[in-house]
Amino acid sequence: MATNDTASVSVLGLGAMGSTLAAALVKAGYPTTVWNRSAGKADDLVSHGVRAAATAGDAVRASRLVITCLLDHASVREVLDPLADELAGRALINVTTTTPEQAREMAAWAGRAAVAYLDGGIMAVPSMIGHPGSSILYSGSAAVFHKYKPLLDLWGGSTYVGADDGLASLYDLALLTGMYAMFAGFMHGTAMVAPAGVTAGEFAAMAGPWQTAMTGAFPRFAAVIDNGDYTVEGQQSLEFSELALRGILAASADQDVSTEVPAMVQRLMQRQMDAGHGEEGFTRIIESIKQPR
Ligand code: NDP
Repeated sequence: MATNDTASVSVLGLGAMGSTLAAALVKAGYPTTVWNRSAGKADDLVSHGVRAAATAGDAVRASRLVITCLLDHASVREVLDPLADELAGRALINVTTTTPEQAREMAAWAGRAAVAYLDGGIMAVPSMIGHPGSSILYSGSAAVFHKYKPLLDLWGGSTYVGADDGLASLYDLALLTGMYAMFAGFMHGTAMVAPAGVTAGEFAAMAGPWQTAMTGAFPRFAAVIDNGDYTVEGQQSLEFSELALRGILAASADQDVSTEVPAMVQRLMQRQMDAGHGEEGFTRIIESIKQPR
C-alpha cells in the first residue's frame, strides 16, 4: 500500500499503455484518478476503483503526482500547456514516447512552470507491464525518481539513466533501432525460406535461439568499439563478412525476394572497404554509421 506522501496519482491518457499503467496502480492500492480525451475508456478502470476525472485539469488537481501517457509530444503539450498553473509544485512523469530534444523541451517547460519533471521511456508492450522483462528507463529529476520508485517498480524494472532529461528517450530510441533492424532481418529470412515451403512458424523456431545466441557477441563488439582499434585479432573481417552478404543477396534474388535489408548492411561495409579497411573487423561499420555520406 502506498504511503501518504506518495499516495495519490493521476494518469492522463488511457490508450493501450496508459490504461495498463493505471490498472497496475489501482491494483496495488494507489488512489488513482484518470482522464482521457475521449469518453468511455475509463469505464473498466472505474469498476476497479479508479476515479474518472471530467477534465484534465480535474485530474491534475487530484494528485501530487501526474503521469502522462499520451500519443506523442504534441499531444502532451496540447493537454498540459493550459494547465501549467495547476501543475506548479507537483511532480510530472511523462512516459509518452518522444525524441530526446522533445523530452528536453518538456523539461524546460516544466522548469518554467515549477513542476518537478521525470521523463520515461517504456521498454515493454502493455501485456508485459508488471511482468518479468518489462523495463522502463527514466531521466531528469533524480528526486522524483527516488521518491516514486516503489510506484514505478510496479510496472517493471525501473532504471534511472541520468539527469539529462533526453537520456531515457535517447536510450529508448537507440534500443528500438536494434529491435527494428532485428525484426527486419527476421522478416527477410522468413521471406527467403517461404518459397521452399518453410512456414514462418518453423523459421521462427530456428531464428529465435540463433539471434539470441548472436547477442553474445555484443560485449566483444563493444570492447573493440570502445578501444577504437578495429584491427584486433580474432574478429571476422569486413572482407570475410562481405562474402556472406554477397551470398545472402544472391540467394535472395534467386528466391525473388527484395534485397533491401541485406543491401543496407552491405553498403555500410562497402564504404569501409572502399576506404581501405577490408581486413579490419566487421565492427568497423559503426564508422559508416557515425559519418553519414
Ligand atoms: P494509444 O494510441 O492506444 O493511445 C493514445 C492515447 O493518447 C489515447 O489516450 C488518446 O486519446 C491520447 N491522445 C492522442 N492524441 C491526443 C490529443 N491531441 N489530446 C489528448 N489526448 C490525446 O497509444 P498507447 O497507449 O499504446 O501509447 C501511449 C504512449 O506510450 C505512446 O507515446 C507510445 O509510444 C508509448 N508506448 C506504447 C507502447 C505500446 O506497446 N503500446 C510501448 C512503449 C511505449 P483518445 O482515446 O481520445 O484517442
